[in-house]
Amino acid sequence: MILAGTIEERVSVAVDAWLRWVPSWTPGTHRGRARLCRRCTGSPLLAAAGLTADVPHQVMHALVSRMQRIIERRVDEFTASELPALHAELTGEQLWSAGGYDPAEGLAPEYEGLDPDPEPDEGEQPFLFTLAGLAEESRPAPPLPRPPLSPEEKQRLRHEIELADRCAAEAGREVCFALMEHRTRIESAIHRFVEPQIRAMLDELSRNLEPPQ
Ligand SMILES: [Zn+2]
Repeated sequence: MILAGTIEERVSVAVDAWLRWVPSWTPGTHRGRARLCRRCTGSPLLAAAGLTADVPHQVMHALVSRMQRIIERRVDEFTASELPALHAELTGEQLWSAGGYDPAEGLAPEYEGLDPDPEPDEGEQPFLFTLAGLAEESRPAPPLPRPPLSPEEKQRLRHEIELADRCAAEAGREVCFALMEHRTRIESAIHRFVEPQIRAMLDELSRNLEPPQ
């Protein structure tokens, strides 16, 4: 097994991956309506990366999701090694849902955390079946209910959830600090690959808006 890197190393690798992805971004790849994204809105990760509101959402989202994965992985590792009650609880839940089709599983980070089935825009054909519907159909029947937790077990679980939350907050801060080191690289990628495309799009738009001579 490869030794797990520090948060700094992981952020550096994830920023590299994002920088390799950015040149392939085009405004046309943006699908669905712009709705408020719960993952990106007000995220301190964006401020740490130096990304401002005028950067297209998908470009920001691709970076935020990659950082989010680092935080989640850190919490998973901490849970597996330090929080036995919570770990058992989560492993049980995974067994429960295993085998079903999860539309959010295996998505590229640019699409992670977005609604897999956006409401069809007016005039567009609705999807014949939805991914969420498919997931519902393929979900296996839940096993027999487990015996309820004792008050001590509940107490312990609550305590471990608190520790996991603290771990997530700490990992989030570390990721933000690490991300700040990459601001220059991030900003220059935006200047080089994203801004010219936005400018071209706006030029095109204003050309179309001009009244015919
Ligand atoms: Zn987002």
